[in-house]
Amino acid sequence: MSSHRPIPPGGTIGILGGGQLGRMTALAAASLGYRAHIFTPEDNSPAAQVSDAVTVASFEDEAALSRFASQVDAVTLEFENIPSSPVRFLERLVPVRPGAKALETAQDRLCEKRFFNDLGIETAPWREVASAADLKTAILEIGTPSILKTARLGYDGKGQIKIGPDTDLDAAWAGLATDLAVLEGFVTFEREISALVARGTDGSWAAWDVVENVHTHHILDVTTAPAPISSDLRDKALSIAHQAAENLNLVGVLAVEMFLTVDGHLLVNEMAPRPHNSGHWTIDACLTSQFEQVVRAVCGLPLGSPRRHSDAVMTNLIGEAASQWEALLGEPNAKLHLYGKTQMRPGRKMGHVTRLYPLDSLPLAGHK
Ligand code: AMP
Repeated sequence: MSSHRPIPPGGTIGILGGGQLGRMTALAAASLGYRAHIFTPEDNSPAAQVSDAVTVASFEDEAALSRFASQVDAVTLEFENIPSSPVRFLERLVPVRPGAKALETAQDRLCEKRFFNDLGIETAPWREVASAADLKTAILEIGTPSILKTARLGYDGKGQIKIGPDTDLDAAWAGLATDLAVLEGFVTFEREISALVARGTDGSWAAWDVVENVHTHHILDVTTAPAPISSDLRDKALSIAHQAAENLNLVGVLAVEMFLTVDGHLLVNEMAPRPHNSGHWTIDACLTSQFEQVVRAVCGLPLGSPRRHSDAVMTNLIGEAASQWEALLGEPNAKLHLYGKTQMRPGRKMGHVTRLYPLDSLPLAGHK
């Protein structure tokens, strides 16, 4: 269902997924006077803890989805690994922003790469792989080192195998335990960056500063805002994200992760049609955070200014790192965010800390 009438404060936003992104969206919704209703299969989820209502049910449960749709004014989603059929089901009942098209394109690495390449936007060289035989042919074309990734349901380095000249390809294919994958050439990058843009129901858009991301063990570790890149590269990165959002007819927020190669090319790695970990710094360093912007977009309100008022370095608190909360609270320029997760596991995102610095004070090596 599409509707161009704004949903006034007092309305209820339905959020598919109960993780920290849903939690921070629900908090932003509350500060603008909206309620959040979380739909998640998980009990005691981080998002449900701060929301007005929660439906704990499977995404396949159509009766639960119908009840949920009747209790909310619009629906958004906080992660991509949701089957698209419930999203299509909900779309017939209530506005879903972003809709199934953006979700389906982003959740399948093959669709995602075709989408960008069709727009003339570069990615790492890649081949579709559906068998060990395909993998051997693809390696002849792409070479090594390369990375074999499941087409679907991968995140934070899960569902990936690095392939070197001596890798046993039959074992690598069997180890991935999938029927569809993509082989990607390994990119020697100078840095990783991401561009985050928002698009409203009227097609208006807003972009935050492009940031630099450093990953450790495939998981985002540190985001620096702004990225130390030239204004030319920044404009190129934003134009890629803008083109993608337009072509998906997206309403909400879109993050596009890119590699900046040593010879100055931008190659898209992947995108997420939702608030993104590399945009958490916007809560404390911008006039409008990515979470408030999603609320504005989903409710058909004017977008807010994404202007950065401070430089920022965001560090994820992964596993044990969150136990340092007391020391972090004592740092004068640090803003601590914890996600209310009761079980600490290695590799699990428990919270983040954003350290703020005066505007334009971070060393911008290479910035022109
Ligand atoms: P992904 O799950 O695709 O986001 O990958 C997680 C991280 O692994 C990326 O942010 C990179 O640091 C690294 N990575 C993924 N694909 C490649 C690639 N083709 N070449 C080099 N590094 C990669």
